[in-house]
Amino acid sequence: MPPGAPGRECEVVVVGGGPVGLFLGALLAQQGVDVAVLERRTGPSAHSRAIGLHPPGLAALRRLELDEEIVAQGVRVERGVGRSRGHQLGELAFDRVRPDFPFVLSLPQHRTEAVLRRRLEELAPGALRRGWDVHDVQDAGGRVDVVAARPPAPGPDPTAGPGEHAVWRARVLVAADGARSVVRARSGIGTDAKPYPDTFLMGDFADTTGDGNTAAIYLEPGGVVESFPLPGRMRRWVAHTGSVPVAPRAEDLASIVGDRTGEVLEPGSHTMTSAFTVRRQLALRLVTGRQVLIGDAAHEFSPIGGQGITLGWLDALALAPLLEDLVAEDPRCPLPVIPSFQDFQRTRLRSARRAARVAELNMAMGRPVSAVAGRARGVAVRGALRTPLRHPLAWAFTMAWA
Ligand SMILES: Cc1cc2nc3c(=O)[nH]c(=O)nc-3n(C[C@H](O)[C@H](O)[C@H](O)COP(=O)(O)OP(=O)(O)OC[C@H]3O[C@@H](n4cnc5c(N)ncnc54)[C@H](O)[C@@H]3O)c2cc1C
Repeated sequence: MPPGAPGRECEVVVVGGGPVGLFLGALLAQQGVDVAVLERRTGPSAHSRAIGLHPPGLAALRRLELDEEIVAQGVRVERGVGRSRGHQLGELAFDRVRPDFPFVLSLPQHRTEAVLRRRLEELAPGALRRGWDVHDVQDAGGRVDVVAARPPAPGPDPTAGPGEHAVWRARVLVAADGARSVVRARSGIGTDAKPYPDTFLMGDFADTTGDGNTAAIYLEPGGVVESFPLPGRMRRWVAHTGSVPVAPRAEDLASIVGDRTGEVLEPGSHTMTSAFTVRRQLALRLVTGRQVLIGDAAHEFSPIGGQGITLGWLDALALAPLLEDLVAEDPRCPLPVIPSFQDFQRTRLRSARRAARVAELNMAMGRPVSAVAGRARGVAVRGALRTPLRHPLAWAFTMAWA
């Protein structure tokens, strides 16, 4: 611990102010728990990531009275169509699965985070501490010390000092610090990790499809192309590629999409292009000492299918009441001996494994195949979408199981 670092006390420290840490912080603040959310970033993330919010995630937002606001900002995706080689294979309707949210919502992650940040600030002004990078954790049984550093403010003075350190002492630490979780590494929790060979190019363009609120999946022999409506008459395109380009370019994505689907994207209209690889990584335990992992720190899987935020919010929803009880009763024992935390770990790991299987299936469906295998795949998908089998598919793809 840095000598002389100022100490601060609170009941729960959440490391990571992404969508999951902000959501948990707000749930706890709403119940009067003294919470601090430490976030290393000082502004919105530069990376464009999630857009899809599934019905169970939207229902979770209701606990913070944010569901209506978020839905009003996004686009309601009410159905998905499957296409291949210029033909429509069939469609999946999302409106039958949950009457309260008969759609998947599309809203860029930075906008969802902005709404959650504002709500946390309303419920507990100052609870979100931005610019603090957690680099050490010391778990001393009945409490945890979380050590964070804040770099010196950027400025013209090259002799500026090394920045600040501080220690937060809390009864529980929740790691919501993402897939590369520092807390998970410091606490020695291993992961079951599996890389996949798949690579993708993704970009947001003006929507010229005329498809309105419909998502489209093009199952093409060269690899899948997916397209989702975004607010502001934009559309996100994601294409399976053979490798990750050094510098992703809108022109390259437009050319892949045009070759495979015939859709014309206007490169000049794009607002973002990026490339990503895919892996699955599940933590072996979620609870250790006085620490709990949630969100991507606990489970990362392919973004194809877009389940990460919803699953993380459901982790937080399950954890919040346990933390409220813990703070009220103040037992000093390690969390893994408490039955409710054992249940939490078992049920949340089971959900994560399920989500990982759905994500794997999603990805396998879209891999490049020969022309003959592509025709057979088209026939199978057409069959599934035109029979009652489409109902369990809609159930799986809207995370109704969660
Ligand atoms: C291309 C792509 C598309 C995706 N699409 C979807 C989708 O459509 N739908 C969906 O649900 N999910 C999607 N996902 C997944 C989704 O983005 C994640 O599941 C989600 O961001 C997880 O939220 P989180 O809060 O657990 O972690 P993160 O969003 O990673 O947030 C972690 C936060 O912790 C902070 N942090 C990290 N380390 C420290 C530290 N040491 N100290 C302080 N702060 C720290 C980070 O700055 C960050 O703000 C997608 C992901 C990708 C890459």
